[in-house]
Amino acid sequence: MLDELQNAGQATLDALPQSSIINHHSFLDRADALAAIHRQISGCRRCAEAGFFVGAPVVAGQWAARVMLVGQAPSEAGAQYNRPFAWHAGRPRPRIWDWLAEVGWAEDEFRALAYLTPVTKCYPGRAASGSGDRRPSLTEVKLCAPYLDRELALVDPDLIITVGTLALERLVGRVRLDDMVGQALTADIAGRRRTLVPLPHPSGVSRWLNEPANQAKLRQALQTLREVRVELGV
Ligand code: SF4
Repeated sequence: MLDELQNAGQATLDALPQSSIINHHSFLDRADALAAIHRQISGCRRCAEAGFFVGAPVVAGQWAARVMLVGQAPSEAGAQYNRPFAWHAGRPRPRIWDWLAEVGWAEDEFRALAYLTPVTKCYPGRAASGSGDRRPSLTEVKLCAPYLDRELALVDPDLIITVGTLALERLVGRVRLDDMVGQALTADIAGRRRTLVPLPHPSGVSRWLNEPANQAKLRQALQTLREVRVELGV
């Protein structure tokens, strides 16, 4: 099933307007093409038409980024402010910013240098359990896949940081998060080899993070990311 995630975009790529197809490499064309993708996401009704609840999308990011951070889906605050990993006043800041600060990236610095995007672009609503947000279904991941594929091709990052299992498996197929966190991977993604560093999902309800043994893996992942950052000069 997760291999399906990795290839989720292929079946519907041709459904996007021709203006989105990347057949040139000038800076202006790439910026225009990315703006076209953002407009398509803003008006997208695919999941609603398929019967899923989705809130507002997050549509943000500059095309010229050597680092792309791929998350699972926007939070309510992220969708409200159209700002990935945003948070409501008075609520705790998402832990991802503390992790990136350990790597040496302050939040403002990272937002300025990286392209932040989720696997599924729209806020998925609360989980039925009432604990945290709903994990997008495989169908929604497939419906949204062409957008992420286009973003990857247009932004063309050297380094991809995935946040959570869904984002990691969307890009590399079936893996165990346990085995991957702490490593720097090299994978064929959107037409060329790229470095990928997986991080766990920072949600406070993440069972993975609550395992003491996994805290050591998180520390190793941040050390790995520090080293990759220096190696790539990003
Ligand atoms: S999650 Fe993606 S496919 Fe679904 S409605 Fe939002 S933009 Fe469209």
